[in-house]
Amino acid sequence: MSKTIATQSVHAGEDKVKPYHSLTMPIVQTSTYAFENTAALIEHMKRKEDRKPLEREEYGRYGNPTQHAVERKLAVLEGGEAALLYASGMCAITSTLLTLLSAGDHVVLTDDCYRRTREFCLTYLKRFGIEATLVPMCDYEAMEAAIQNNTRWIFSETPTNPYLRVLDLERVTEIARPRGVKVFVDSTFATPCNLRPLEYGINLVTHSVTKYLAGHNDLLGGVVIGLEETIAKLREAQGVLGGVTDPHNAYLLLRGVKTLAIRVAKQNENGLRVARFLESHPKIRRVYYPGLPSHPDHALAARQMTGFGGVVSFEPEADLERTSAFIDAVRIPYIGPSLGGVESIIEQPALMSHFTLDREERLALGIKDELVRYALGIEDAEDLIADLEQALEKV
Ligand SMILES: *Cc1c(COP(=O)(O)O)cnc(C)c1O
Repeated sequence: MSKTIATQSVHAGEDKVKPYHSLTMPIVQTSTYAFENTAALIEHMKRKEDRKPLEREEYGRYGNPTQHAVERKLAVLEGGEAALLYASGMCAITSTLLTLLSAGDHVVLTDDCYRRTREFCLTYLKRFGIEATLVPMCDYEAMEAAIQNNTRWIFSETPTNPYLRVLDLERVTEIARPRGVKVFVDSTFATPCNLRPLEYGINLVTHSVTKYLAGHNDLLGGVVIGLEETIAKLREAQGVLGGVTDPHNAYLLLRGVKTLAIRVAKQNENGLRVARFLESHPKIRRVYYPGLPSHPDHALAARQMTGFGGVVSFEPEADLERTSAFIDAVRIPYIGPSLGGVESIIEQPALMSHFTLDREERLALGIKDELVRYALGIEDAEDLIADLEQALEKV
């Protein structure tokens, strides 16, 4: 029976009958798991040695039952064979690249990507003899030209932060596949509700589950989804690198994912309505939202995605200070980093993610003084728009 993502978000990955007949997945708060006797221990170790599916837990660094339930659920949502959870989104990205790349390998990376990912690839990987080439997002000729004999992976994001550029997944797989290069996509901004990259032949998908998947601005986590063979390698490496999530965190994530479909539907609606309102407002110079025909990737986004997401970036007719005054005048959203949760969050990237850069360096990355990123929550669109209207009157 094929089920929709809303039904899968609630039920996938969970047994109907759980320990103690609990309806919800229990939190197994233990660091270690005991064996009945030596024979049971030997049987477990043999299964491990033979790489057979394990029937029990062993030690907290190798996972816990609640974590495994979330992994099964997220694998189903993305249409992948298996998933692995990590302590944070960055832990998922760094652990995966460290595991799948070796000295002498090369990776192609698109710009306008998460700043810490770029930093990891350009400075940390370099120390291990792994080179990275940064190519402009959506420049497919540059991407093709950057591929070398030792290129193993292309890493990209879709949609990107903060300009919401959309990666053409068909084109990327057409470039990568004949050259024996694999593609790893950070799909945090899309969520499996709006986009399922594996269906386009992308090899690995990652999410910062901190954002939409957990959805409540209350935990950190990351996930990687792909073929069982690849995830098994990552699981093995996680036992060494140690970036596990704990049972409580896994439970909060499991609980959050249950409402993913209705939250994202509301955030898609809020994104589109707020973007349209802002675009029609005389005090707004430019709006970046893939759901608007004015966005450079609108046609692609409309073809490839089933929703445009809850993040809207825009530039008011203002300088740095007057933009800050506008942000201070908005009442509903919190001022802060992050996105994807039920509470709306607004920020000025020049003063948040890019605060430590000098102005020239920041402008070179395309982050203007007056750029605002508004990550919409699940509040009512009418209220959010009325709030923006009153704040814009004041600047
Ligand atoms: C937040 C984010 C990350 C990093 O995730 P953390 O959970 O904060 O470590 C990576 N990629 C994207 C696109 C993000 O938004």
